Parts: sequence; structure tokens; C-alpha cells
Amino acid sequence: MQLAEIARALGAEVKAGYEDICITSVSFDSRTLEAGALFIPLVAGNDGHNFIQSAIEHGAVATLWQADHDLGQVDLPQLVVADTLEALQTLGRYYLDKINPKVVAITGSNGKTTTKDMVAAILGSQFNVQKTHANFNNQIGVPMTILGMEPNTEVLVVEMGMDHFGELDHLSRLAAPDVAVITMIGEAHIEFFGSRDKIADAKMEITHGLKEDGTLVYNGDEPLLRTRAEDLKQLTVTFGRNDNNDLQATNIVSDDTQTGFRVVSWPEENFTIPMIGAYNVNNALAALAVGNLFHVPVEAMRKALAAFDLTANRTEWVKGAKGERILSDVYNSNPTAVKQVLQAFTKVETAGKRIAVLGDMLELGDQAEIMHTGLAAEIQPEEIAEVYLCGPIMAKLAQVLDEKYPADKVHHYDTDAKAQLVADLKASIQPEDIVVVKGSHGIHLEEVLAALQK
Ligand code: ATP
Ligand code: MG
Repeated sequence: MQLAEIARALGAEVKAGYEDICITSVSFDSRTLEAGALFIPLVAGNDGHNFIQSAIEHGAVATLWQADHDLGQVDLPQLVVADTLEALQTLGRYYLDKINPKVVAITGSNGKTTTKDMVAAILGSQFNVQKTHANFNNQIGVPMTILGMEPNTEVLVVEMGMDHFGELDHLSRLAAPDVAVITMIGEAHIEFFGSRDKIADAKMEITHGLKEDGTLVYNGDEPLLRTRAEDLKQLTVTFGRNDNNDLQATNIVSDDTQTGFRVVSWPEENFTIPMIGAYNVNNALAALAVGNLFHVPVEAMRKALAAFDLTANRTEWVKGAKGERILSDVYNSNPTAVKQVLQAFTKVETAGKRIAVLGDMLELGDQAEIMHTGLAAEIQPEEIAEVYLCGPIMAKLAQVLDEKYPADKVHHYDTDAKAQLVADLKASIQPEDIVVVKGSHGIHLEEVLAALQK
């Protein structure tokens, strides 16, 4: 776009002579900015206005400028706006209308990124698809995803995250989805919401911008969603394990690396995904439902799911230094996700022992303690031989597990005692063992993972 067009979209003024500067990308991070970019200095955290020189050095050809900042000697064409974040969103909306792709918006307590990648793989077999990069799912990430679209984009698949009321309302109105997906309701961020009921209300905000002739795809096993979706005037499609869903998964079978399942209702077909965890079947069902809405042939969906590209750092198998297999899921954690991963992990066959390394689950507010001790129901000595817990709240789970485990099989460490954890763990691990590592990002179990691989 030329700078004049961007100025018009933002209601800003462009100095004479600069109108036809060609903008080929936008960036809010001067370090990764590409030549030809419009720099968007955001003010949250590190004020981007302080990095204008670095943006120029990296090849920025123009910049936005927030009106309350002193312009001083900025040696770059500027568009002065009231608020740079709002301007980023306004520009995103403008570009979306200009390119006019179909939009699929995905939210849910867990499974957003996985489902996003699956949907993109399925739709990508037939259309030019642009999807959210990595996990860029917030008020900045969504407009950046939009502005990253190639002009020939036919479908935009965008992940939407939230931890407060109103955020999805805003993102949904910004992206005006043709299809909205809610993967599931869990307990993530319950600290802020107080109840699953309220979380369901907040997730339903993804329908606020849903087009009149759009469709909501949601997990029909969740009564909190069913009751709310009934009031919607748009079409709905449900998926899940119960037989009242439009897409129901049956015959779920996993080995160490993949999971097969059969979908009944429509289409009645077998599928395989290259990952374990029965919960991922739900994500695949959501993706298949979206594929159906776009009339993707079943064979193309099967192929796409069997080999789709998973964003790194989710549940994945890696090799430890002794040859042990490690199921790594160190990126985030919450009660539903831990239970799901433990269920998948205990089904994996091994000639050695199973070991669980679990870190605190953060942001659970006053339910934290009960949700940590509640994990005891999923951890049995016959299935998981040793447990290594890390973080202050996990001390409570350690106490509960101590009652049913033999001596010296349940260990607890403070967050800053990971070196000891690793030393004890390494002393125990044998090549044929399998290990699962999962915790909230703030506990940094990736350090344990890295140490095990060294
Ligand atoms: P974030 O909020 O961090 O963006 P996300 O919603 O994008 O997370 P993913 O990255 O797809 O979720 O998956 C994160 C973890 O959540 C997985 O590794 C797994 O443990 C769990 N998970 C994924 N899908 C589901 C699901 N459908 N139901 C329950 N747990 C799930
Ligand atoms: Mg995500």
C-alpha cells in the first residue's frame, strides 16, 4: 500500500511528497523489522518510540507516531495518530476489508493453536490460507496476522486468546469471522473469572462479530456452551464424543506417535493425526467441521490431518541424553491439560518405568490448591512409578501423593532448586524409561528439559 492510502485509512495526514512511499510490511519490533516496513511504535512495556533509530537502520520507510509523544528530530515520514495500538487495529480492519478473505476465528481454553494449525492444513489443501504465526493471538497479534496476509489470501485462520471479558468481543468484531470455533471450556484464567460459567460467557464473545450468515463450531459435550449456543441466530455445528453431536469421534486408538479415530454422523470416515492425546481428536473434529463448511473433499482432509505442521513446543516427543523418551509439554499448563496429557502418557507402552515431572499450574486463584491436589486422581503408582514436582503449590500435591506412594518415589522441589531435581532425576532415569514434563510457562520446566537432553 502507498503511504497516502494508509494515512486515509487512519485519518492521518501525510506530508506532501511522501504520498507514494510504498509500504510492504508493518512491524512493531525494530529488531525484526524488514526493509520497506511501516514502523508501529507501541507504548505498552518498552515504548517503541525510543527505538525509532533502530527502525530506520533496519529499513523502515515510514512510522506511526502517537500524538502525546514529542516528535523531536525524527528523520522518517510520520503519520501522527492518537493511539498507535488502535491505529494498528484500524489498519488491520482496513486491510481485511480490502483483501476480503473468508475468516475462521478460533478460541477455547486449550487447543487453539493445535486446532488453528489443523484447520490451516485442511483448508490449505484447497485455498490460499494465511494463519496466525506461532501464538500471536491477542490485541496486537490478531491485527498483525491480518496485516501479514498476502494479497491473494482466500482464507484467514486466526487464533484468538483472552484472559478478560471484552477481549474476544473486540477481536471478533475486528475480524468479523465467517466461522467461529470454540474448542473447549477449561479452567485456564479462572483466577480472573471466578467460575467456568463466566469463562463460557467470555468465550461466547467470539460470536459477537460473527457474520449473520456465519457458523459457530463448538464442543457439544460442554453443556455450558450448548445452552448458550441455543440463543444464537447463526448456524451451529457441534463436535465431541457424545452421540448428539454433528461430528462424533469413536474408536479412538493411539500408539506412541499417532492417534486414529472414526467420525460418525458426517462424514463417516477414519482419520489419523500424527500426535498422541485423545484431546487432540477433539481439535481434529473441530478442524474437520470447518473443512466440511468449506466443502473440502474428505480425502484431502484425511491427507492434511495425517501430516499437518504442528507449532513447536506443544506436546512432542524428544530424546533424552540416556536415550529415554521424553514427552515435552513445557509451554503451558492447567488442570484439564495436565489430566489429558497424563491420561495419554499412561497409555504409552514401555519396557521401563513412567516418570512424571510436573510444575505449578499458575493463575488459578483461590482454587489453586484444590486443583493441584485434584491431580492425585490421575497419578497412580502402578502407572507412574516416580513423580517429581516443582513449585510452591505442588507441595500440596506431594503431600497427597506421599500417602499412596512408596517412600522416595514422590519428590518435591522449589522453583529455584531445579538443579537438584535434574540431578535426582538423572540418577534414576534408565534408557527404556519414558518421562513427561509439563508445567506453566512461569515455572520454566524447559530448563529441566534442556538439562535432560544434555
Ligand atoms: P495458549 O492459550 O497457550 O495459546 P492453546 O489454546 O493455543 O494455548 P495449544 O497450544 O493448542 O492450546 O495446546 C496447549 C496444550 O493444551 C496441549 O499441549 C495440551 O496439553 C492441551 N490441550 C490441547 N487441546 C486440548 C483440548 N481440546 N482439550 C484439553 N486440553 C487440550
Ligand atoms: Mg495458542
